This record gives sequence, C-alpha cells and structure tokens, in this order.
Amino acid sequence: MENRDMANPYNTVKCTLSVNDKAYSYFNLRSVDPEKYDKLPFSIRILLESGVRNCDGFHITKEDVEKIYNWELHQKSEETIEVSFKPSRVILQDFTGVPALVDFAAMRDAVNQFGGNPLTINPICPADLVIDHSVQVDFSRSAKDTAAATDFGCPPTQRVLDLEDTPAYGSLMSHAARHRLPVFVNLKVDSSNTNDTIGGRGTPHWTGEMANRTTKSCHSIEQSPAFTRSVNKGSGSSVLRRRVSPIPTMCGHHCDGVTCLLSAASVIEAPCLKVEETKKNLDKCLSLSGIPIPDRLCQTLTDRLCPFHHIPSLWSDALEKNQDLEFERNKERFAFLKWGAQSFKNMIVVPPGSGIVHQVNLEYLARVVFDKDGLLYPDSVVGTDSHTTMINGLGVVGWGVGGIEAEAVMLGQAISMVLPQVIGYRITGHLSQLATSTDVVLTVTKHLRQVGVVGKFVEFFGPGVNELSIADRATISNMCPEYGATVGYFPVDEKTIAYLRQTNRSAEQVAYVESYMKAASMFRDFNNSAQDPVFTQIYELDLSTVVPSLSGPKRPQDRIAQSDFKLDFSQCLSSKVGFKGFGIAEEKLNASASFEYEGSTYTLRHGSVVIAAITSCTNTSNPSVMLGAGLLAKKAVEAGLEVAPYIKTSLSPGSGVVTYYLKESGVIPALEKLGFNIVGYGCMTCIGNSGPLPESVVEAIEKNDLVCCGILSGNRNFEGRIHPNTRANYLASPLLVVAYAIAGTVDIDFEIQPLGYSPDNRPVFLRDIYPTRKEIQAVEQQFVIPAMFQQVYSRITKGSDSWNKLEAPQYDLYPWNESSTYIKKPPFFDDMTKDIPSIQSIKEAHALLFLGDSVTTDHISPAGSIARNSPAARYLAARGLSPREFNSYGARRGNDEIMARGTFANIRLINNLVSKPGPRTIHIPSGEEMDIFDAAERYRKDKCNLIVLAGKEYGTGSSRDWAAKGPWKLGITAVIAESFERIHRSNLVGMGILPLQFLEGQQAKSLGLTGREKFTINIHADIKPGQLVEVQVGESGSFQTQLRIDTEVELAYFINRGILNYMVRKLA
Ligand code: SF4
Repeated sequence: MENRDMANPYNTVKCTLSVNDKAYSYFNLRSVDPEKYDKLPFSIRILLESGVRNCDGFHITKEDVEKIYNWELHQKSEETIEVSFKPSRVILQDFTGVPALVDFAAMRDAVNQFGGNPLTINPICPADLVIDHSVQVDFSRSAKDTAAATDFGCPPTQRVLDLEDTPAYGSLMSHAARHRLPVFVNLKVDSSNTNDTIGGRGTPHWTGEMANRTTKSCHSIEQSPAFTRSVNKGSGSSVLRRRVSPIPTMCGHHCDGVTCLLSAASVIEAPCLKVEETKKNLDKCLSLSGIPIPDRLCQTLTDRLCPFHHIPSLWSDALEKNQDLEFERNKERFAFLKWGAQSFKNMIVVPPGSGIVHQVNLEYLARVVFDKDGLLYPDSVVGTDSHTTMINGLGVVGWGVGGIEAEAVMLGQAISMVLPQVIGYRITGHLSQLATSTDVVLTVTKHLRQVGVVGKFVEFFGPGVNELSIADRATISNMCPEYGATVGYFPVDEKTIAYLRQTNRSAEQVAYVESYMKAASMFRDFNNSAQDPVFTQIYELDLSTVVPSLSGPKRPQDRIAQSDFKLDFSQCLSSKVGFKGFGIAEEKLNASASFEYEGSTYTLRHGSVVIAAITSCTNTSNPSVMLGAGLLAKKAVEAGLEVAPYIKTSLSPGSGVVTYYLKESGVIPALEKLGFNIVGYGCMTCIGNSGPLPESVVEAIEKNDLVCCGILSGNRNFEGRIHPNTRANYLASPLLVVAYAIAGTVDIDFEIQPLGYSPDNRPVFLRDIYPTRKEIQAVEQQFVIPAMFQQVYSRITKGSDSWNKLEAPQYDLYPWNESSTYIKKPPFFDDMTKDIPSIQSIKEAHALLFLGDSVTTDHISPAGSIARNSPAARYLAARGLSPREFNSYGARRGNDEIMARGTFANIRLINNLVSKPGPRTIHIPSGEEMDIFDAAERYRKDKCNLIVLAGKEYGTGSSRDWAAKGPWKLGITAVIAESFERIHRSNLVGMGILPLQFLEGQQAKSLGLTGREKFTINIHADIKPGQLVEVQVGESGSFQTQLRIDTEVELAYFINRGILNYMVRKLA
C-alpha cells in the first residue's frame, strides 16, 4: 500500500510524552484549535485523532480532518458530511470470520489470475478472530436424552433404565455411565415412620439393596422438598420414582460442597474435599457400598481435566460433550481458520472453547491505547458483529460493520461514514438495591428507541456514570444496536484505569494509557461538568427510577417492569398478532397439555418456561449479575427450591474468568443443583444455538399451539431466533432467569405469588432470596481478582488438544476441496473483467418478495438450524449428509450454495405475496407458490431481474454479510424499502445491490403496489449519491425514490459491482 506519511500536514503537532522515564510521541490535537477541540464530544476526538494521524492527502485529506474539527458547526446545518475513518484494528467472530477469510482466499486467487501478487491480499491492520459462535447447547441438564442418545449408539428405547429391571446396580450404573443415560430408582416412602430416618422428619427411606448401600456410606441424605411434600400429603407407604445421574457433578478444584458419585446417584452430600481426598473418599464409599466404579468414571478420575483449572474434574460433562460435538461438526471450518491464522499476517485466532468475542475483547484484546514503535494513539475497532460496541464501555470507539467492510479495513482502506450527530445521555442519581445493570440497559434501550438515535453516536456523561462499573457500562454499550445507535460511548476515566489493572493489563500499559489520555484531553472526570462537551441533543436518566425489568416477547426494546409482567403477558396472549401479540382466541387462553418426561407427568400452559439460559456476553462479562444469579441460586437451594427437570437450563460463560469467580465464591454447586450447569464457552442460546428441547415438550407445545417461553440474559429475542418452539422470549438479568426457571412460568406475580415452597411447606417469595446490590458488590470485590485474568488469558491462544492436533494446509493460495460442503470458492469474481463494466438500468424486474416492517437479518439470512425440508437440506442430502450432519446456516457461511438456499429461509418470514408465514413466495409469471430459492432459480433461467419491496427498518438486527451476499446470489438487483438499517444498507451497496428508499410519507401500500407488477429502475452513468431515482411500474405508472448510496466511496463500490471487485481491480 502507498505510504504517504511524509505528506502528513499534521506532523508539526507531534509531541513527546514521558511516562515512567520512557519517551513516547503522540499527535497533540488540541494544539491545532483548542477552542473547537474542547467542545468536541470525546467520541469525536477519537475519530479526529485517526484522521490527523492517517492524513496522507490520499486516503484521508486535510479537508476530511477539518470537517471533524468543525463538527459543532456542521450540527447546525442540515447538510450530510462525509468523513473517512481508519480504525486501529478489526475483530471477527467465526460465523462472519469464515466468509471473510473465504473472500480473502478467493481474492488471492483473483489477483493471481489477473497477474498480480496474491500476497498483497493480507490484513494490514491487526485482526483478531475469536471462534465462539459454533458451540450449541446439545447437552444440558434436560437435553441428555434428546440429542445425546443417538450419538453413543444406544437406541432411544434404552434411554430410561429402571433399577428394578436391572439385577445389579453396579452394572446398571456402568451401562448408564457408558451410554450417558439417566437412571431412575424407585424409593419406598413410609410416611408412618418419618422421625427416625437419616435425613430427619419427612425424608423417605430407601428400600431394598439401595437402602443398605446408602446407610453404609458416611453421608447424610439430602432432604428433598418434592419427597417431603409427597410424604406429608400421603398416608402409608408409597413408591416414588427419582431420577439419578450416573455421572457425578463436580469440578475438583476448591470443591466446597462437592457432590460425589453416591451423592449424584442417591442424592447424598459429601463434605468439602480436595481432589485426592475426594478420590479416596469415592473409593471408600464405593467399596463400602460394594458398587463397582463404572469404566467411564475411572477414566474420568484419571484423564478428564477441567478446562480452566487443568486438574481432574468430575463435573457435569455437558461442557465436554458440547465441545466434542462442536469439533465434530466444525472440523473443516476450524481447519480452514487455522490455515488463515498461519497464512495471513497480523492475525490472532482465539481457538474454540475460550470465550465470547466481545468479552475476550473487553478482558484481554482491547488495548485502549496503542503503542506502535513509541507512537501512542487511541484504540478503535470495527468488528464483524453488531455487538462490537460493547468495547465502547472501556473507552474504545468501535462498532459493527458487514464482513465486506471489515475486509476493506483489513486491506488498509478507510471507512467512509457520515459525520455523526452525538446524543449526550446524562446519567444522574443512584441505583436501588434491587436494580441490576441489565435493568439499566433495558431501560436505556427502550428510552433511546423512543427518542430515536439510529445512525447517531450516544455518549454517556453526568455524575451517575461514576455509579456504573466498567462491566455495567459494557453491558449498556453492548445493546447499542438494540437502541439503534452506532456507538454507545463511555469516555476513559479512573474506573477504566482501575479495570485495566483488575484485568491484569501490564503496569507499563496502564501507565501510558492514563498519561496519553490525559495529555490528549480524552480523559474524563464525570463529576466535572466543565469538561462536558457540546452535544447535538441531550437526554437524561435518573438511575433511581430503574426497576427490575424484562423485555419482550419479541423485541429487545419492549421493556416491561417486572411488577407489570404477569399482566403484560396475559394482554400479549389475546392481543392481535404483532410485536406485542399472539392472537390466541378467548376459548384457548386456558389451554394446557400434559406430557411425560423422565417418568413423571408435567403440564404446560401458555407462559410456561421451557428454556432458561444464562447466556450472552451482554451479561456474562458482568460479574455483578453473574454473581447475583449465583447468590440467588444459593438462597433458593437453601430454601429447598428446585427447577422442573424438563426446563432447558444452561449457563454459558463468556470466558474462563467467569467460571473462576463463580467457583471461588462457592455458588457453582447451587447453580448446578438448579440445572444451570456450564454448557460451553460461546454464544450458545444468545445466537439461537439452543439445541433441541425434549421431544415430549415439543410435541405438547405444537399439538396445543401453546405460547411457551424462553427466558434468557441475551440481547435479542426476535421471533424464531432463540428456538422455534418458544414463541415468547424475554430478555432479563441472570438473576431473573434463575427466578423464572424456578417459577416455571411467566404467568406469575412475584409480589403476591411464591416462587415455590420450602421443605416445611413455607412459601418462598422472590424477595426472600433476591440478593441486594451491596451483597453482590461485597462478593465481587472479594473474588474477582487480577490473578484470575492472568491465569485464564495466559492460555488463551493455546487451544485444546483437538485444536492443536487439527491439520491445516500450508499454502499461500488455499487448495479448495471440491467435495467440501463447508468451504467453497465463492463465485464473486467468476465473470469479473479487469475493466469496470458500464452502468445498466434494471429492466422489467419482478418482486421476489413483498415484505413488511422490521424484516431482520435473521429473516434474510438465518443463522440457526437447517430445516429438513428446505432447499439447503436437499442440497446437503444430495451430497450424502444426514440431517444430524447439516449443522447450522451460521456454521455454513463458507459455502455460497447453502447460504443462497438459506436466504430468506426463516419460518417466521411474512411475505405479502403468500398467505402464511414461511420461506415461500409466488413465481409471478406462473402464479405457482414455491420455496424462495426455487423461484429465484426459475427467474434466473428466464433471465428475469429481481427486486425486493420492503417496509421500515429493512435489515435490522445483527450485521450479516450473507444478508447481502445471499440476495446477490439469488439475483436480486435492488431493494426498495421505507428505511434501512445502517450496516445492512452499506452491505447491500458493498455487494452492488441498489438500495432505494420510498420518499417520505410514501410506501408500497400508499402507492397501490401489489408486488405483482413489473418494475423498471432507471439509472445512468452520471449517478450521484442521494439522488432521486424514478421507478416505472408496468406500462404507465411510476414513482420517485431516493438513492441510498450515501457517499462517493460507496458509489465507487457500486460502480465496480461491489467492494470486493473494487479491491481486486485496485490490487491486481
Ligand atoms: S451478543 Fe450474543 S451472539 Fe453476539 S457475540 Fe455476544 S453472545 Fe455472541
């Protein structure tokens, strides 16, 4: 790339800075124009610094920089000001990272083919890729007999074993352990004799052989509230069936309150034991009881290591099994990523099983300030994930871009952007003892959605910011895409510096971050209003008004105070179908369905919780809410509460640090007891990788058309994202996730209805077990310490044995494997010429789809499972794959054939051309209804142009390059919408698709369009950003639209038929 550094007109303001006797240099921006600089929002100062430092008169000009200095002036004009921005680095996750690297590999081929040097295709700025999106909750406490059974060769009919049917307990346990199956024992309850039992009054006797073994052991029987209540209500003897696990639950490290084999098998608690003692004790218990140790367990004791403590572990093996399956499914993709890590310079790949991208960014990757050969400058980042904004909480400006934009930045291009308005969000007051950062973010999200901040920066200020920890701020910044802003920025302050120390950043780094930020006037004191910059507009939040909240059932901005939740849910049930309605008929409001699960009968109703997931970097990066959930679980267990076994409960931490502090603070056993076992280190339920629900649950829901619920600590709950069978999904703090899991329903008023009953039949209310902020803070201060970060992150790039054994090709040009169904050379450059083709109007196009408002990228390019009857499934089946091997769309983004077939393949898509939701459309000329992909193929054969008609906020949701590449592959040449989501619009341009916007006050309906017309879009060689474009309808009608190509650079991409072609022509 060209080096124009010598031409930088701002070299004259380079200063030196001495930090601990070491000399650094930096650009002193304030010295150029102190008056203007002091009024700039802190987020704009970061953009300005990048402009000044990279000003070379070519990529970034002096005029660009002056525009940023004049930010305040531009706020007063209506004019749209375009500026260029070069971020310091790029961050990728594996779903979007794979297609980015596939494009890089294909670009190398294309440059090579045009006679250029393929090695020019190489990241120029640092790019970090975290593999976190692939792991699924195949196994959890309640999913053992859904996905698991078939994997180990055990027929489904043998899933449930009964002690009475099996002569020897030992062989039963051994068999069950080997096949990972649940076991049931029959317990004889003698309610006439309840005073003299080991566990005390109300505890059932074990009967027969089992009882003898139990009493021989040195432990006491746990009181089970379920048994106790049954005993108290019953009379005489009765037999209860109790589910037990052949695999004990324990991590050997600091195993306070560990559960040994017998405790898992017969519900007996062992005292606190160290690993060796535990092993000895196990041997002792087993030999006393005469139970042979199952093979699987012997192996576990000697071979299995807890992935974070690297010591023998016996805990729930859901984590290990999910990781095994993740590897089995994704081996090819992972090998490709490993090739990328070796082949491309300047790229760190964080292997699977390490954590979630934004949490790893926050805790480890973010520099806050870069030191490049002694030159200090602020960290800034773009990421191929919309929640990249989480890092704004740490004072790093950054946001999500499409994969195609990220590729351009990796190739040294500047991002072209509109100089943003900056909304000041003043925070005052103090949080109540019961409110969490999740409640704050749901409140902020609703507020900012209402006032409208789409496309703007939000910058937080005011004395209330001091109330918020960096983790709290990161949670608020994380949900920036949900409130629609480009960034949600918290400037660097004393708390940022303290967080860098807490997370074990080096003393040298901490020192130069603080000194540089102060010297550059980018360091904030939130109590000092004299530092407040000028904002475009200001909104306020008094923290004392924040109450425990949830959001849903279908959108993150639909916050409901937890106290109003029961009422809100019942209103949603009967309201007409929409964001707040399910349209359930009056006579079906009380519908219920009974079903069998693990030998017991349960009942589901509208509002029943079937998924409860502590998930998402939004919350897992925040120790206060994670420890809060742990403390609530502990109090719940102490009060004798349980979670119904059919509810799919899971905990997926965003890094090993979480496991560490949960373990150290002693809350893991309680979480596990309620089913919140650690199931994997990745996005999991947050991205919709929820895995299967028990078949009997699915059947009960589907047959009775029930509105069952998912409760998750995630940030998105669009229909179809979390699970096809949870029509209502609520976002909530991890504390409320645990609470609603215990309640088993959202149809509950916690003020007047108890969560459950204690063993002595005392009602237990949420307020009895809800930890206060003060309690949580005390535990957090004690247990979240730098040594944990040091330990966990010293191993972050090492990877598991499976990763290290993985073989990857050793070539500069990727050797494409024709038979691969995961990685395929994309067709973007197939018909490309070295010269730019001329611009053509789009003639007589048909509407492939006629869509309404808020069509998300989940609708356009779903990431979840591949339906068995879909075109993608047919493609995979034709290549000999069984449904079990299909994996998800997200995991198959390296294969354009599958992604094209998955485009618009969301079961909830509403296409006005057909009567029912689903991935179907009408092939207009024939009038036949068919799958969208099949219709597109038919149009292609007939050489028909295609467009899409859409409503407001088209392409809202996660940034997905396939939401633009997929339509390109289907042959869509233009999208006419009422409005576009920011990143998605730029991605459409990046693929050479024309985004057109209906004029203010107009829409398809008001123009009388039915979607069955033929459309001609007239564009010419002199096309200009933002101009009006006429669309002819049929023979005589027409309407005007606004071209949503917003900048000259975007126009250059469009003219080149996309940004990738633009780059190849530039570098070939
Ligand atoms: S927001 Fe959810 S999907 Fe996105 S990176 Fe975080 S956990 Fe993963």
